[in-house]
Formats: sequence, C-alpha cells, structure tokens
Amino acid sequence: MDSLGALPFAALAGRLGSHTRALAVRKWLFGRGPLAHDGRIPGVRGSERLLAEAPLPPHELAARQVAPDGTTKLALAFPGATVEAVMIPGRGRSTVCLSSQAGCTRSCTFCATARLGFARNLSAAEIVLQYARAAREAAPDAPARNVVFMGMGEPLDNLDAVLAAEAVLMEPPFPRLSPAHVTVSTSGVVPGMKRYLREGRGRLALSLNATSDALRRELMPHTRTWPIAALLDTVRAAQAEDASKSVFVEYVLWDGVNDSDAEADALIALLDGIAAHVNLIPHNPVDGLPFAPPPLARVRAFQKRLADSGRRTIVRWPRGVGIAAACGQLAGQGANSERLLSVSRSEERPA
Ligand code: SF4
Repeated sequence: MDSLGALPFAALAGRLGSHTRALAVRKWLFGRGPLAHDGRIPGVRGSERLLAEAPLPPHELAARQVAPDGTTKLALAFPGATVEAVMIPGRGRSTVCLSSQAGCTRSCTFCATARLGFARNLSAAEIVLQYARAAREAAPDAPARNVVFMGMGEPLDNLDAVLAAEAVLMEPPFPRLSPAHVTVSTSGVVPGMKRYLREGRGRLALSLNATSDALRRELMPHTRTWPIAALLDTVRAAQAEDASKSVFVEYVLWDGVNDSDAEADALIALLDGIAAHVNLIPHNPVDGLPFAPPPLARVRAFQKRLADSGRRTIVRWPRGVGIAAACGQLAGQGANSERLLSVSRSEERPA
C-alpha cells in the first residue's frame, strides 16, 4: 500500500486533483501542528480518501527526552521496529538525525547498536515520518532544515528507502530541504557509496576512524571486504567524474587508539587529492564500551596538524550529553550508536 509519507508531490496532487490541496497536505505533514487526525486532514477536500488509500505509517511516540541544551530525542515505535530520531537545535537552523534501520547488520565494536542485532529496514515513509515528528521539536526561529542520516543502521544497506525519503524531503514546493543540508553517513559500503555518489543528491559522509586496514578491521570488522584504499578510490573516481561531489570524512577520536600525530599525518596522506571536509569526533563514552575520548589538548593537536596541512577540519563537541546515556533506553533496545551520539556534537568550535 502507498503511504502519504513517501508520495511524491506530483502523485499527491494527482490523487487530490489539485496542487493547492497537495501543498496543504505537505504543510500539514511537515508543519508544527499535531500529526494526529480523525480520518481527514483539516481543510483539505479529498483527504479522507487520500488517508484511506495512502495512510501514514502506523507509529507511536514511545518516549521523549530533552537535554538541558534543547537536544530532543524521540523513540518512535513502528510495527516491529523502535528507532530514535533526534532534533539538535542550532542558531537559526536545527538538525534532525534520522535512523534508516532498526538495529544494524554491521558490527562496529564501538557502537552499541551493533549489539542489538537487526530487526528490519525502515520504509521511506517511516524515515520521512521521523523527520516530520522530530522537526516539530525545533524552535520556530531555528527550523529543522538540516538532515543527517546518522541514527540507527547503515543507510547504504537500505539505500532505496533512503533515496526515496531524501527525494521527498528535498522536493519542492515543500519541505524543499537543500541538498547541501542533507548528509548520508556510511561505515563504508563500496557498492552503496558508488550508487549514492551517482544517484544521491545529498552529501556522503564516510566514517573512516582509522588510517590502517588492520586497525579499521578491529574497529569495524565488516570492512574486511572493503579496505581503506577501495573506499577512497571510490570517492576519487566519483570526484574525477564530478568535481562538485565533495564528501565529509568522519573520524571518531579514541584515547590511545587512533589519536597520535603519526595517525594525523597518515590521515593527511590518505586524503591527498580528495575534496573532503574532516569532522573529528571525540568519543562520547557509552556504558559497557571500552573506549575513552582523548584529552582536549590531544584533540586540538590532531586538529591543528590537519588544519596546518590545509585540510578543512572541525571538531564536533558534545551536545545533548545529559540524555546521551539514555538513548538506547528510549529506543527500548539498549544503548545507541556512536554515530547517533556523535551527531549530537554539532557545536563547532574553531581550532
Ligand atoms: S556504527 Fe553504524 S554501521 Fe556500525 S554498527 Fe553502528 S549503526 Fe551499524
């Protein structure tokens, strides 16, 4: 059955026989009012039939937590899948972090989601609905105009749904997010990277986290299949075809694991010739995981080394820390993924 959340605007207008009514439905879906309805959308003629033929995905708000800095985490329960969506407030523009899967089939050792197992892929409509719910948490003067696919799951393992969801979110006339403000983060799945770099309209973020295959295999065992050279060659090839395909490289910093000057230099060398903005993410401790962030001075030294080489680099500092430990409890399945925690660190401070 079709779902309202994933219907392209033209299909919506076709079903309602009116662009004006289709726009009213989009404004209801992505507006600030309640999403609950009694079988019709207020003021939209024909919405009873629309909702009957293409309903919103069934869901419940299972939990909601607000950190002192305003970061708001929602646990949304879909049939057979409870996932988290996070609203991170910003100055003038907020960010919503979306899950693409309930659980994950990958096995990153620093990520608690990996221990949850895998429930199922989310549909495009379920992904869009996460945005619709979380965006309502943003302040009116800082609407949620940034989207990052950094929640639970490996987005490139559910790429059809992710592409369909981002298409709806970017589609005019509304909500029309800028492709520059949509980021899809991957642990490094080469076939999916190739496809997203070809078909995706947002920006790819490669979660690299190590400069040697040996360490990367320890941290992210699934990467046996795709060594670092294959990941970076995929980006190089895409940028050779289209120079506008700039990417983010995410590098979580762990004390004594991957934070030395030598590793900073190795990262500089690996990224030579690649248009990439580096996001350094000091680890945010998660109960039960044996990792710690480096001291502040080490983070600064690592960043300075990259910056001195001419590489654009920022450090993403913690946001929403007061509720981070409870992420998994919200989802009802244990602690949350490192990447979801890391996106809460959206405050950027210069070196
Ligand atoms: S970091 Fe991402 S890809 Fe790795 S296990 Fe966690 S959710 Fe999956």
